[in-house]
This record gives sequence, structure tokens and C-alpha cells, in this order.
Amino acid sequence: MAQPILEFASLGSGSKGNATLVRCGATILLVDCGFGVKETSKRLEKFGLTGHDLSAILVTHEHGDHTKGVGPVARKFKLPVYMTPGTHVSRDYGVLSELCLIKAYQPFSLGSIDVTPVAVPHDAREPAQYVFTCDGVKLGVLTDLGSVTPHVLEAYADCQGLLVEANHDLEMLAAGPYPPSLQARVSGPWGHLNNYQAAEFLRCVATNPLQHLVIGHLSEKNNCLSRVKLALYDVIENHHNVLFASQNDGFDFLSLHSTEN
Ligand SMILES: [Zn+2]
Ligand SMILES: [Zn+2]
Repeated sequence: MAQPILEFASLGSGSKGNATLVRCGATILLVDCGFGVKETSKRLEKFGLTGHDLSAILVTHEHGDHTKGVGPVARKFKLPVYMTPGTHVSRDYGVLSELCLIKAYQPFSLGSIDVTPVAVPHDAREPAQYVFTCDGVKLGVLTDLGSVTPHVLEAYADCQGLLVEANHDLEMLAAGPYPPSLQARVSGPWGHLNNYQAAEFLRCVATNPLQHLVIGHLSEKNNCLSRVKLALYDVIENHHNVLFASQNDGFDFLSLHSTEN
């Protein structure tokens, strides 16, 4: 089989910490860093990587499960950090010696990877999720999304790889430990996608070239695999390679190939 063009993996996915790896040749991007230096290094080691192998950290928004390790890891391994101005002002990251402020509507390139930030409705200051392309291969990373907008459907159309959140089951959320105000926030239009919203997104977005689908950012308190699988039943049936990212182990590198000719 031909060499993969883009690869992606996760160091962990869920409300206790998120970090996703996107690799194209020598360019390795870390999308969010919800783990401290020690934990990030330990999790990178499983992939035969160290922080020195990373090219940059991209931040989606300021919530702690995405940013806990951003400052410390960037300082330890001297990495540039990319984020929107709103994400930057909303949290104290400490000194970032190479801070690159991006616009949530303007693509940019990092090594051989073209990065398209996508503005999303979520209860953060200026959140941006990301779509990555390299030689015609497209990977979408989409977590922390309160509702699906036409902009999101357009931006994530025709991906070869997709990481999408299915955060909570509505019944489990209602019966779970969260106070009513937090339940309303999580399930509201600026919160997170529930299992059925994730399924609906996957029915609506164009997925013809999809090679790997990963469902992630599952709430440990308000969701479980059996409920996700039930809600996504028809979606799972339609796609061969469906994975569920875990909080402890994330998932191993998945390879994406060109679907042209
Ligand atoms: Zn999150
Ligand atoms: Zn969030």
C-alpha cells in the first residue's frame, strides 16, 4: 500500500484531558494539551515520540481539559503555540516565547500541513476547531461543539479522517451528578454534542472518502460506550473503520491515504 499521507492519534480524549497528534512526514502537530509535562511525555513515549519531535501546539479553546499542559509543555520543549486571540486572553498560559495568534477564519500552513481553523459554537471566548489537509488528504478534528452549523458541515465535508465528539447521553446527563445549571450548559447550543447530535452530524456531513472515523470526548460520568453505539448504530454500519477514543489510552496512529485514482 502507498505511504500514508496524513496520520492521526490521540494521547487521551475526554473531559479529563485531550491531546491529538497529527503527523505528515516530519511535521507533527499536537492539537490541545490537556495533560501536564510528565503525563504528556509518558503518553508520547507509547508512540515512540518525545516532546522534541513535535513541531507545534495548536489550541482549540481555553478550557482546562484542552490547555492544562499547553504552557508547561511549550516551555519544556520550546514549541510554538497557535491559538486565537480570544483563547489567549481567556487563560493565563504563563510565558509563551513563540505565540502565534491566528484568525478563526484564516487558513495557514505548518510544514507540509495546511491548517484551516473552524469557528464553532461552544461556551469559550473564541473557540476554533481544526481541519488539516496535505496532498489532497483531509482530516477533521471536531470536539467541544454545542451545535452543528452550516459552516461546520461545509468545513468538515469529504474528510478521509474524522475525530468527532459524542459527549453525553441525554438521559445519563439528566440522571447524573452534574447540578442543573451545568447540565443545561453541557446540553445547550454552546455546550457539547450528545450522542444523537453526533449521529445526526455524521448523517448530514459528506463522508464519501472517509477512511477512519473516531468518536471521542466521551464523558466518563454522562456517557457509556453501549449508549454511544446504540445512537450511532446506522453510522457505524455504514463505515468500516470506526474507533472510540478513550480517556486513558486515546488511540493509536491511524493512516490516511489519497483517494484519488
Ligand atoms: Zn473539552
Ligand atoms: Zn470545552
